[in-house]
Amino acid sequence: MDLCGLTIHQLRELLTQKAVSAAEVTSAYLQRIQSIDSKLHSYLEVFAKEALKQARDFDEGKRDFNLSPIAGIPIAVKDVLCMRGVRTTCGSRILENYVPPYDGTVIEALRNAGAVFVGKTNLDEFAMGSSTENSAYCQTRNPWDLDRVPGGSSGGSAAAVAANLCAGAIGTDTGGSIRQPASFCGVVGLKPTYGRVSRFGLVAFASSLDQIGPITKDVKDAALLLQILAGYDRRDSTSVQSPVPPYGERLEESIKGLRLGIPREYFVEGMDPEVAEAVEKSIRICGELGAEIIEVSLPHTEYGVAAYYIIAPAEASSNLARYDGVKYGLRTPDCRDLLTMYRTSRSRGFGPEVKRRIMLGTYVLSAGYYDAYYRKASQVRTLIRKDFLEAFQRCDALLTPVSPIPAFKVGEKSEDPLQMYLSDAFTLPASLAGVPGISVPCGFTSQGLPIGLQILGPHFREDLILRIAHQFQQATPECRRTPPLNEDP
Ligand code: GLN
Repeated sequence: MDLCGLTIHQLRELLTQKAVSAAEVTSAYLQRIQSIDSKLHSYLEVFAKEALKQARDFDEGKRDFNLSPIAGIPIAVKDVLCMRGVRTTCGSRILENYVPPYDGTVIEALRNAGAVFVGKTNLDEFAMGSSTENSAYCQTRNPWDLDRVPGGSSGGSAAAVAANLCAGAIGTDTGGSIRQPASFCGVVGLKPTYGRVSRFGLVAFASSLDQIGPITKDVKDAALLLQILAGYDRRDSTSVQSPVPPYGERLEESIKGLRLGIPREYFVEGMDPEVAEAVEKSIRICGELGAEIIEVSLPHTEYGVAAYYIIAPAEASSNLARYDGVKYGLRTPDCRDLLTMYRTSRSRGFGPEVKRRIMLGTYVLSAGYYDAYYRKASQVRTLIRKDFLEAFQRCDALLTPVSPIPAFKVGEKSEDPLQMYLSDAFTLPASLAGVPGISVPCGFTSQGLPIGLQILGPHFREDLILRIAHQFQQATPECRRTPPLNEDP
């Protein structure tokens, strides 16, 4: 049996029936990682020994995980989440040797639910990027075409799930970093509502935007992982105290009668025609499933990229001020004075994209420019949020492409940051508005690259977008494929 090809809920079933042991499942994944990940570089670190131990503890019933759906199941974690006793590098040299003394809230929740942590996955440095090319350590490849990027910044997590190198993974999304790599790799990725999941123990990039969410092989798995991640946490003052509904419960309900809005601003010139075609076909399928399709408008969409690339760097420049060589990570030795130590530690520790963002962010926040840039961007953000609130008066959810293009070639955009930023145009507005979004595979290009459909819902309606995504996935089994990666003999 191909254990690695199974979803979390399928593995759960086998474990419950005692048809396999957790140790067998974990060993199968570890073996596959060993033979395939040298091509993909999706992991920064693999915890072979510890993972096997966690799996054996589960098999021996050392701890009672009750009915946890992920007990004994191998999960990978983006290396921007603090996990006790193991390195958390954020893909940056500056945190090369940082070992947090504590678990972040989501890690704690997963641990308590009995997850087997297989490893930490690669990412763009401090989650800044759309291709995982900004990692200081390695370049993750797209499992569908090794010459292409997996998307980013959670590219390692998405590639690992797509290549069956873990049963499910945790990513983070500030402006698309779960949804876009999920779409590039042909898997499911969910960005929850801002405030739905605690960010305690997540290394901050842009605090008013960051969210943690699942990347999985199917929608059902996304629902069950979200169930574990979601909830109020007093250690994150932005986490929201609203009840967590049972996400898996209504997945099977039909979408008949739902009103699904198509925002015309998301179907623009310059978009890859095969992406447009696949998304349009998906919209027709939702119509055939009984949803009412209506056209809507989100008029401020075109300002999303500009507003995001002011707000996110502004927050990043402030958040990253703490890496000064004093408390964390890299410190240049033998400096003649404190300022030189700060300067050389930061210039050696950060990569070019992070430096660009720090400079941009510092500039837009500086006296004299604050009103023209940061304040203006915040006002635009309010307008974008209003667009969504108004659209959701007319429809239950929105259908859009995740990205205007499929996975691009390694190196194709890395020299041109503006092109890279522009490719985020369809994921940034939802992040600025704080609404939840899911990416679900909806087709392939003629070159065999996956295409993603984005479903956006009102704040705290993850249950609804999960249900639409699940119904869509049930109707389109041909969109769920596994990349043809051969294990070495
Ligand atoms: N690509 C966007 C950026 O570079 C989003 C990244 C993210 O969501 N972490 O900022």
